[in-house]
Amino acid sequence: MMSPTHTATGVVLAAPLLAVAPEFAVAGALAGIVGGVFPDLDLFVGEHRRTLHFPVYYWFLVLPAAVVAAASPSTVTVAVALFALSAAVHSVVDWFGAGPEPRPWADPSEQAVYLHFGNRWLTPKRWVRYDGAPEDLLLTGALSVPGLLLFDGSVRTLTVVGLVVGAGYTLVRKRVPDYVEI
Ligand SMILES: [Zn+2]
Repeated sequence: MMSPTHTATGVVLAAPLLAVAPEFAVAGALAGIVGGVFPDLDLFVGEHRRTLHFPVYYWFLVLPAAVVAAASPSTVTVAVALFALSAAVHSVVDWFGAGPEPRPWADPSEQAVYLHFGNRWLTPKRWVRYDGAPEDLLLTGALSVPGLLLFDGSVRTLTVVGLVVGAGYTLVRKRVPDYVEI
């Protein structure tokens, strides 16, 4: 899935805070956005979908972070929990799309996300055919609703930016491999 889908997911994950601890909702949503982007930094360092994608191990961070945040809620503890949760969900959700190859629609790989826990690659589910597919943008749109309606200020602005970037990326997606070496 493309980054705007992951960042919108981060905001969705933080939305329940509006009900239980509204004073930390914005910090949680911003941390969810950062956590949604974080695993894909392995596009630039190490091996994409492997170095910073942990479909299992992030959850070992999520559980204690959630307990600490619940026991002692603060901007920092809530942000750490949401960051970890968003990165964990990102790593699992990439499994439901295609692999990291430049042209998943023409030259599909069998490697979606690396499962460090089992020392093997998870096979792509392709429920979303490739990152930047029309259904990926649809997902970004649906997941952006809480960011647009329930939040304001920086979270809403970043949600709009995500939608614009996602729409632009979807438009040019199939031409990207002609210009960028992934
Ligand atoms: Zn990813």
